[in-house]
Amino acid sequence: MPDVRSLHWFRSDLRLRDNTALAAAARDASEIAFAFVFDPRLAAATDGPGRRLTFLEACVAKLGESLAQRGHTLIVRRGDPRRELPKLARELAIERVSWNRDTSPFARARDGAVRSALEKAGIACLEHKDRVVFEAEEIRTGAGQPFRVFTPFRNAWWRRFQSEPPPEPAPLRLPQPAPSPAAGAGPLAPPDVAAGAGERAARRRLESFLDGPVGDYTSARDRPGVDGTSRLSHHLRFGTLSPRDCFHTGRDAAAREPRLRAGIAKWLDELVWREFYAGILETHPRVLRHAFRPEFEDVRWNRDDAGFAAWCEGRTGYPIVDAGMRQLCSTGWMHNRARMITASFLVKDLLIDWRRGERFFMQHLIDGDPASNNGGWQWSASTGTDAQPYFRIFSPVAQGERFDADGAYVRRWVPELRDVPMSLLHRPWRASAHCPEYPPPIVDHGERRRLAITRFEEARSA
Ligand code: FAD
Repeated sequence: MPDVRSLHWFRSDLRLRDNTALAAAARDASEIAFAFVFDPRLAAATDGPGRRLTFLEACVAKLGESLAQRGHTLIVRRGDPRRELPKLARELAIERVSWNRDTSPFARARDGAVRSALEKAGIACLEHKDRVVFEAEEIRTGAGQPFRVFTPFRNAWWRRFQSEPPPEPAPLRLPQPAPSPAAGAGPLAPPDVAAGAGERAARRRLESFLDGPVGDYTSARDRPGVDGTSRLSHHLRFGTLSPRDCFHTGRDAAAREPRLRAGIAKWLDELVWREFYAGILETHPRVLRHAFRPEFEDVRWNRDDAGFAAWCEGRTGYPIVDAGMRQLCSTGWMHNRARMITASFLVKDLLIDWRRGERFFMQHLIDGDPASNNGGWQWSASTGTDAQPYFRIFSPVAQGERFDADGAYVRRWVPELRDVPMSLLHRPWRASAHCPEYPPPIVDHGERRRLAITRFEEARSA
């Protein structure tokens, strides 16, 4: 074993199991130390209620516990990683720093600066792929270009997956701990957040989902009133679970249990969307500020601050929209169908720039991820690659009646409407006697639908 003293820098890979850079570092180091750096720039960028940061802190604390059980310390620093990592590496006489690659524009810039500071100090850097199964350059069209359409991307992705090795188990024997200074104590997360954080909780959730509920995924996934999805997005966001692990564990479960096969296949395809959007952001970083489709960069948007506030607070008068926004604001998570409906409503009914909604979601979602959030918003706004066509506009009433047919979702999140009969639940203005405290619709959907199509056509022909 080479005599290398290594430091593994944890970021969005807060686990020991199947952690590519960590496993590689542990394999050929004689001593190893571990660090996490809370970068104040991240806290400043999360100007919402801060649920994502609380969850992150709880995951970091769990990781510290797992390392302590193995006789290691997680060193926690606060500050700019460009300064903190070289400083720590010098203090511990580290020769090599490892980390897992993050291809978002912010991370790329930060990691490039950290690398040059470390290399200037004579410290080697090792970067590995880990956040996705395949990075953008590994899945290309026959002409060597990145895919812009999901279905052929998915087909190419699955062809390539057949030849991937199974996930690495967590290194069972870590090298000697490098002598480490006392870990900086992190804030204690509230008990309910702590209970759902960390890699053990992620693993339990994955196993219990694949143990049965996934069998109904194909039909249940579209019903926001049903607990029919994995709820693993925040774990994938912070790397308490690896995507490879999901694919391999999912495929093993499908091989064991034929009745789960269709549900698992559909579920894994959703994870391929995550890879698709990560690739779009990697190859087109401009999408974080601009429409993927340049013809829709300059749609004539409304300012409408009052409409935006009503949308944020869940009082648009459209029950399925309000249920979604209230779920988001009270829990930090929103069902995928509701994300599509609420996003569509902001853009096509209120005619508000999708970037305002994207930002609001990033402030509130625990799973807030620049690539998937941007992808979801640009899909809903018809500005993205392979997006919903601009003339196909969700009707909030029809969406509610179709996907919340028993009213469970609306009754849960909009209690003012609890007593409205089912036939009127998604159009309660016809039943005003039953719900005086619920607002009337803030816009007329039919009128706004026509106006949205006009605005998109104007932009396209400008
Ligand atoms: P499941 O249905 O169990 O899916 C499993 C996993 O697949 C998810 O955890 C997620 O990692 C991935 N996935 C599923 N659907 C998508 C999708 N459409 N795009 C990308 N990945 C997907 N997802 C995020 O992780 N972070 C975001 O910030 C985010 N913002 C979104 C914004 C909008 C406007 C829309 C329409 C979708 C957004 N999504 C985002 C995608 C999706 O809504 C969530 O991943 C999903 O609801 C998470 O719940 P789950 O883990 O139970 O999903």
